[in-house]
Amino acid sequence: MVRMASGVITVDADVDPADLAATPLRMRKALGRFASGVTIVTTAESESEDNVHGMTANAFTSVSLDPPLVLVSISTRARMDTKIAETGRYGVSILAGDQEPLSLHFAGGTQQPDLVRFVWRTGVPLLEGALVHLACTVIDSHPAGDHTLHVGRVDQLWYDDGRPLVFYTGSFRALELQGRDDGWGF
Ligand code: FAD
Repeated sequence: MVRMASGVITVDADVDPADLAATPLRMRKALGRFASGVTIVTTAESESEDNVHGMTANAFTSVSLDPPLVLVSISTRARMDTKIAETGRYGVSILAGDQEPLSLHFAGGTQQPDLVRFVWRTGVPLLEGALVHLACTVIDSHPAGDHTLHVGRVDQLWYDDGRPLVFYTGSFRALELQGRDDGWGF
């Protein structure tokens, strides 16, 4: 850090700019420090278990309350990207703290087919045991680099109380709740 006569602080003035580059690995490491929940995104051509496709995603965010919009960022290499484009609908199940095995399963890791149970809301499949279910209709899909941002209008939602599964620096974590539960009235 260098403090200039003007009072402006220039950080890392003595560091090679190449060491600060936003490479894919450094992006992953930096953004992995933004703790997130974990979701399973699901979609199906018709209301039949045989047609369901699911994948683990943490690039999920709320977008708007009125109208109710969310988005998921899906790699163009994921099968899910084409599936969502075909069905025009998707579900988001926000996982509970004990659902790490499901998260690994739907990321192509250790397979646990016996743990996979779907429930249906407005024709959209969702994962039993999750903390939150959002049944969405795609209103916009934006190409963004090697991902697609699928903006969904939430047609129906359901939620329960409980502890969420947390993802931080590439590892699954448990959330320790401290302080008041009703800080912002959620
Ligand atoms: P596949 O890899 O073919 O399938 C995914 C897995 O789901 C397979 O193991 C399959 O057995 C299982 N599966 C699918 N459908 C069913 C079904 N009907 N019944 C039972 N099992 C089924 N990628 C992103 O693009 N965006 C993200 O935000 C993102 N976040 C991630 C967060 C975490 C914590 C992790 C671990 C991974 C994340 N990924 C993300 C990576 C993504 O989950 C994987 O690349 C995934 O494998 C991509 O899925 P796919 O659509 O290509 O399908």
